[in-house]
Amino acid sequence: MKKAIIFLFLAGAIVFIAGSCCNKEESRPYLVVLSMDGFRWDYPDSIPTPNLDVIAQSGVKAKSLQPAFPSKTFPNHYTMATGLYPNSHGIVLNSFWDPDSNIYYAIRMNEAVGNGYFYGGEPIWVTAEKQGVKSASYFWVGSEAEINGYRPSIWKKYDHDFPYEQRLDSVLAWLQLPEDQRPHLIMWYMDEPDHSGHYYGPFAEGTNEVIMYQDSLMGVYLDKIAGLPIADEINLIITSDHGMQASDPERTEYLEDYIKKSWLTELQGYNPNYNILAADGCLDSLYQALLTAEHFKVWKAGEVPERLNYGTHPRCMDLIVCADSAWRIKIKRDGRRGSLGDHGYDNRNTDMHAIFYASGPAFKKGHFHPTFNNVDLYPLMAYVLGLEPAEVDGRFENVKGMLTEE
Ligand code: AMP
Ligand code: ZN
Ligand code: ZN
Repeated sequence: MKKAIIFLFLAGAIVFIAGSCCNKEESRPYLVVLSMDGFRWDYPDSIPTPNLDVIAQSGVKAKSLQPAFPSKTFPNHYTMATGLYPNSHGIVLNSFWDPDSNIYYAIRMNEAVGNGYFYGGEPIWVTAEKQGVKSASYFWVGSEAEINGYRPSIWKKYDHDFPYEQRLDSVLAWLQLPEDQRPHLIMWYMDEPDHSGHYYGPFAEGTNEVIMYQDSLMGVYLDKIAGLPIADEINLIITSDHGMQASDPERTEYLEDYIKKSWLTELQGYNPNYNILAADGCLDSLYQALLTAEHFKVWKAGEVPERLNYGTHPRCMDLIVCADSAWRIKIKRDGRRGSLGDHGYDNRNTDMHAIFYASGPAFKKGHFHPTFNNVDLYPLMAYVLGLEPAEVDGRFENVKGMLTEE
């Protein structure tokens, strides 16, 4: 009898110890991802960014992060979150028409941006929440919408003017919440240096100043993170959705020079990307006319080069148009000065590539990683957080070399 009691006691103790050592929440690290919009991969080569350099030395820096095509903000932020190409997740441009529902989607249409109907695939915060892991987001594309019945535990309605410093303070406050409320995944966003890159052009003084300011903010960010009691458990990723190319307003093509309005049913997009639905019986005239343009490409849906992974989603409609590098496309002459920087171009154009930095316990120290695709971020984030990933276009193989446990 005594032996049986001792045995039961020992067995119980073993179960208890095994249970506590493998309690996932106790060992699960934190991951905080920041996207600074339009942060071209080679800005830090000529603009002083001492704080990003610190991350490169103490963690990982990639040569560049290749965006998905089209290299626009909404398709790419949602690609980073889901590991799917825009053609797979359905946010095919910053603005589009959905033929199934006959509803329009555009970055300034708050209701559409918050409507989960538009968002295919499974963003990483949904993967996390489904597996009982709390997440939070300050303005990541898609985080306002309920997707497959989930939202991040903490999310905010987009407010363009909300100061970066306060976003940062909120992120820090979230990391100090009581353990049962603290998010393990945080994704936050800044709209610069994209805005300045468009306005002044890449590498112009006004853009460089903004980049240096953002880097100084990264210094504050790193210091504050280092001061947290859980600092050793926090992984950071600092990245961006695409780069920026200098534009010359003189090098502009106008769609009105090629097509008649009566040939169109829908025309969606802005420089350098347009998706078109032809009016009944007009597809061929439209296509042949656009083919004559010297400085942009036009493809029929289904004929876009395979490497661009684009063009077969119904929201891409009949024709896909994209300007050649260094050229712009406007619908018509409107007398307005064009921007001095732009993006959306072929993702093989390295001006479209973005930054990638990472540090923390999951990442190697002083590792320089080759260029990789932003669809690979989802498998990376899932791995760092110990989550079972959904099936995606991105591949873990491409990022595994930057991790401490290979
Ligand atoms: P673009 O440069 O045209 O690709 O788009 C950049 C703009 O997207 C930024 O200036 C932001 O104002 C806007 N933006 C980025 N994230 C969001 C969001 N979550 N909700 C609404 N607008 C956003
Ligand atoms: Zn952007
Ligand atoms: Zn932009």
